[in-house]
Amino acid sequence: MNIFRCDLCPRNCRINRKKGIGFCKADDKIKISWFGHHFGEEPPISGPSRLRRSRGGSGTIFFSNCNLKCVFCQNWQISQPSFALRFGGLRKGKELNQDKSYDVNGIVEMMLKLQEEGSLNINLVSPTVWSYWLEKVIITAKRKGLKIPIVWNTNGYEKTKTLKEFEGLVDIYLPDYKYDNEKLAIKYSSAPGYPEVARKAILEMQRQVGDLQIDQKGKAIRGLIVRHLILPGQIENTKNCLRFVKTISDRVHLSLMTQYNPLYRAREFAEINRPIGKQEFEAANKLVEGLGIKYGWVQEFGGAVKCFSPDFEKENPFG
Ligand code: SF4
Repeated sequence: MNIFRCDLCPRNCRINRKKGIGFCKADDKIKISWFGHHFGEEPPISGPSRLRRSRGGSGTIFFSNCNLKCVFCQNWQISQPSFALRFGGLRKGKELNQDKSYDVNGIVEMMLKLQEEGSLNINLVSPTVWSYWLEKVIITAKRKGLKIPIVWNTNGYEKTKTLKEFEGLVDIYLPDYKYDNEKLAIKYSSAPGYPEVARKAILEMQRQVGDLQIDQKGKAIRGLIVRHLILPGQIENTKNCLRFVKTISDRVHLSLMTQYNPLYRAREFAEINRPIGKQEFEAANKLVEGLGIKYGWVQEFGGAVKCFSPDFEKENPFG
């Protein structure tokens, strides 16, 4: 991993992160937009319902910036902070933590505190563009007594070379598989090569951690969960994504997400400027059944939109 000619992700911007910024607009100062106890992830990550509130949920750390530019990003206030500040996604003076950066020890302390408060795991959301520093963070945290699993919660646009550095450090991989069609990946996420890149990355994750293992209390301890968000009008894409997911393993765990909400710049694309319809939800469910994907979770239809669209201006974005 090189930050002097940045090659952390498939974009390979080759810029010096100490002097400039590349596609993700992240420099060498680690930015965290929010951290705390999150109860909205998959049950083995946030904790089965009987464990949730009492045990602290998922100890989640939301990193700023992103190496994708999804036009429908629900976290756009923090993934695209300069756009959010310019176009009213964040009120002036509400720069979240954008003006504050964390060093390795600061993040280690944060993780240990989340563990002490009862978190079931440490859930690193959008870690990719900070991976150079996170390797040291995880090693140091484990040395200082971090015992709970590390979750790598990613958009899937990852280099296998970078992921290999995390073998033995990350316990649970939680990648998206968003597109099996490059045209869609370019149009909606500015991500050339996404299908091939993400497939290779997910197979590397599976090689490292294998199928999901859940303990007797219902908590994930190791393994892979692949997420797929159903996009409006794109059931063919969902079909092809699920076909790939099925090839990963007979025991692959799928998280099929229905929470699509036309936020950020989605209104510029008429065909995706709406939530998914009931028929699309049912069609996706049939695909899962038809392919014989037996393990995982399907979000409920409707009602999800509001509670899964965070507002990072609030003290608790999910409250
Ligand atoms: S992490 Fe950012 S700067 Fe580095 S290659 Fe990826 S997009 Fe470019």
